[in-house]
Amino acid sequence: MKSSPAREPPGPAGAILLGAHVRGERPLAEAAALGAGCVQLFLGDPQSYHKPPTRPDAAELCESPLPVYVHAPYLINVASPNPRVRVPSRKILAQTLEAAGDIRAAGVIVHAGHAEDGIENGYTRWWKVFEELQPAAGPRGVPLMIENTAGGAHAMGRSVETLARLWERLEDFDVGLCYDTCHAHAAGEDIVRMAERLREVCGGVEVVHANSSRDAAGSGRDRHANFAEGLIEPGAIVAAVRAAAAAIVICETPWKGIAVDLAFLRAELGVSGAGVPLTGPRERG
Ligand SMILES: [Zn+2]
Repeated sequence: MKSSPAREPPGPAGAILLGAHVRGERPLAEAAALGAGCVQLFLGDPQSYHKPPTRPDAAELCESPLPVYVHAPYLINVASPNPRVRVPSRKILAQTLEAAGDIRAAGVIVHAGHAEDGIENGYTRWWKVFEELQPAAGPRGVPLMIENTAGGAHAMGRSVETLARLWERLEDFDVGLCYDTCHAHAAGEDIVRMAERLREVCGGVEVVHANSSRDAAGSGRDRHANFAEGLIEPGAIVAAVRAAAAAIVICETPWKGIAVDLAFLRAELGVSGAGVPLTGPRERG
């Protein structure tokens, strides 16, 4: 079991960088408008296996001091027993890591997936992913972070126990943890306690996704909500963020209320930075 994360956080020691998932056409401008200290985006269509396109603003993103995190496509499931899912999942994950390297991203976040033929097989498939990807990552290698998920049968990332065993299997590799409060709530977990336990068994949490949920605890559904409208008590989200003790906190809540969610966390956590609300429809991250 690892005792500490493999990496130094991107911000000043002890500081929290609070940011948002943005649609990604102009991530630096959107981050600036929100007063965000970091940003997360998709590099391609989150629902497709298509290779991420080259970004015209790659040089600008490389030069920016703002830590940029990349969320891999949702349909990736590298733990699947079905080669028609697993093989393209591994391929698009490798392509996403490569494209993330082109913009000097601070990390790529991917869902833990599920193994319909039993999670033991899922651990082995995850091990193969890291064995294949990390030696090839080279000097531009971007850290890969696995995210806990909301539910489903044979989920690799729904419970502390399965994540703990996954981390044991991946102990030879550089693997980060992304903790999502909406997913923990949907999985039926106490979101503060789960953060505390994951810190222990995974050697720390690198990124928190601070989201509320449209659904009841234990629903297994992954539908994010703004703090004022969701079914998680906002104070519990703050407590979970504190318990996770991650340097990076990203809201993936609906765009219409994301500036309000960020302002709430900023005030509760004592994070500096001033943002102004953006107007206009945006997709959820
Ligand atoms: Zn998330």
